[in-house]
Amino acid sequence: MAPRSHIASKSVNHHCPGASVWIGDIPPGNCDHGYIQIPGRAIKSCKKHNMACPGGCQRVCLKNQQGCTSCINKWEREAAQARKQKEQDRKDAEKNPWKEWYDSGSNRSPNVVIMFCKVP
Ligand SMILES: [Zn+2]
Ligand SMILES: [Zn+2]
Repeated sequence: MAPRSHIASKSVNHHCPGASVWIGDIPPGNCDHGYIQIPGRAIKSCKKHNMACPGGCQRVCLKNQQGCTSCINKWEREAAQARKQKEQDRKDAEKNPWKEWYDSGSNRSPNVVIMFCKVP
């Protein structure tokens, strides 16, 4: 563990994580405090390590991130939802009685034929 040095720079910056750790390929320290333009207003932040969130929300995020925590959480929820939907679709497809019958290798006519022959 490297010795903690952020206390020394406390007066310069106490919020930007980039003050003490690498942010992608941006070296730590030398935070450039200023205003980052986001839709509708500007947020006081370190311009060296932060940028306006690409998610289009009114927040900033670190430059090595795809978005702010809130957007990432949202994207993850959406991705999880999409995965769940895909899984459900797969299960539904597997539940297809035709397929069940086919996979069983049965010689019997499937009972479901009658059900499925109904003209909608
Ligand atoms: Zn910074
Ligand atoms: Zn965001």
